[in-house]
Amino acid sequence: MNVLRRMLCSIGLHAGQWFLPGSRCESQRVCTVCGKLSEKVRHSWTEFAYVAAGGCEQVRRCERCSATESRPEHDWGPWFYTNMEFSAPQAHRCRRCHQTEKTIYTMR
Ligand SMILES: [Zn+2]
Ligand SMILES: [Zn+2]
Ligand SMILES: [Zn+2]
Repeated sequence: MNVLRRMLCSIGLHAGQWFLPGSRCESQRVCTVCGKLSEKVRHSWTEFAYVAAGGCEQVRRCERCSATESRPEHDWGPWFYTNMEFSAPQAHRCRRCHQTEKTIYTMR
């Protein structure tokens, strides 16, 4: 039994209960078999929301510890060819910030 438990520890499957210290979002666990301290972060994020009209940065906030995280989220229009040549690259334009992105190789 103990041997099996230690085998599980060696592949990262530790035993014990996670607990939240204070109001932050880090959980900690001390393994009851090998004593290893593990930590994981689990924020309770709100939905991503745009910061400004006409901009594409979105922000979300953790309701518990007020950490923030941002990402760009463009509202791309349809792809179009930038010229009439056979090997023309394609481009699309963001409907919010009017940035354009060109590509030859990648289609999303
Ligand atoms: Zn362990
Ligand atoms: Zn948090
Ligand atoms: Zn944009």
